[in-house]
Amino acid sequence: MAVYLFFNMTKLNIDITEYFYFDEQMRERYSKDAVYQGTPSCVYRAGDWETVTEVIAHCNAKQTPITFCGSQTSMTGSSVADEGLALSLSLKNKILDIGKDTKTGTPFVITEPGVVLADLKKAVQEQGYFYPPDPTSYKEALVGSTVATNATGEGSFKYGPTRKYVQELEVVLPNGTIKTLVRQKNVPVLILKNTAGYCHEGEEIDEIIGSEGTLAMIKKIKLNLLEDINPHVFVLVLPFSNFEKSIQAVSLLLKKETKAVAIELIGPGAADYFKRCSVCPEELKEERSFLYIKEE
Ligand SMILES: Cc1cc2nc3c(=O)[nH]c(=O)nc-3n(C[C@H](O)[C@H](O)[C@H](O)COP(=O)(O)OP(=O)(O)OC[C@H]3O[C@@H](n4cnc5c(N)ncnc54)[C@H](O)[C@@H]3O)c2cc1C
Repeated sequence: MAVYLFFNMTKLNIDITEYFYFDEQMRERYSKDAVYQGTPSCVYRAGDWETVTEVIAHCNAKQTPITFCGSQTSMTGSSVADEGLALSLSLKNKILDIGKDTKTGTPFVITEPGVVLADLKKAVQEQGYFYPPDPTSYKEALVGSTVATNATGEGSFKYGPTRKYVQELEVVLPNGTIKTLVRQKNVPVLILKNTAGYCHEGEEIDEIIGSEGTLAMIKKIKLNLLEDINPHVFVLVLPFSNFEKSIQAVSLLLKKETKAVAIELIGPGAADYFKRCSVCPEELKEERSFLYIKEE
């Protein structure tokens, strides 16, 4: 029945047995993220791009909802389908090129969206480059999803969120058209810290970054890289008996010339949790809050 609903009424020339799954087990596998549960009518694991664009255009014409899925580690329910098609990008996992722009000398990587972020970071590091975005879920998250969510991590304090590195995107629009968006200028300072919701302050490419799959499907990504950095880091955890003092300390640290890679506040709630853990030294059990500071 579901097969009929999705495809029988069309002239699509698709072998739906290969990448389409209507069975309960597969629909269950793609039914939840960290906070939300839903049930897609069908799971489609993207195979060849030509078919993907046909399917997107067809679903759009039939008003069948499509929800794009990476590794479903997001905590907003945005990768969970309540109905329609759950379109998984995990098989589109090829790194296409790593190199240096001949005109500007800027290192770059061109990749499909389904590469796991940790694998991408490792691949560019092996070529002597560094890709900074480091969401805590980087060992599972797919690079396309990190662009779709403008993911950040502890290093964003120094290196900024994903948006800053996105130079070019190839996207599939709802009607199946493929469009290439190239950044013309630098990322405007105002939106450097925008990590959620639509961004109307930059260029067209900035509207797609962080739009969580609601405007287009990200098909190909060109990311700017940094030259490899010194891997040695210095980590300090500062305890405070007074919460206000820990906030003041952040202001003082911001005035320092050398910028920390990360400054994370562990406020009273999280500190209470830490103090209940067996790893917490006795001497710290009276403290109110902590600052986690990382420098290169
Ligand atoms: C323990 C944990 C720690 C986390 N830490 C951080 C953190 O430090 N910083 C942070 O920013 N986030 C964090 N997250 C949130 C999440 O992991 C990131 O947003 C990550 O980018 C999601 O990757 P994913 O592959 O799991 O994407 P999914 O959850 O599968 O999808 C995320 C969104 O991207 C869309 N999407 C996926 N692929 C495409 C595509 N090709 N085209 C268009 N849209 C697409 C989906 O529709 C969905 O809206 C964390 C999550 C967990 C569970």
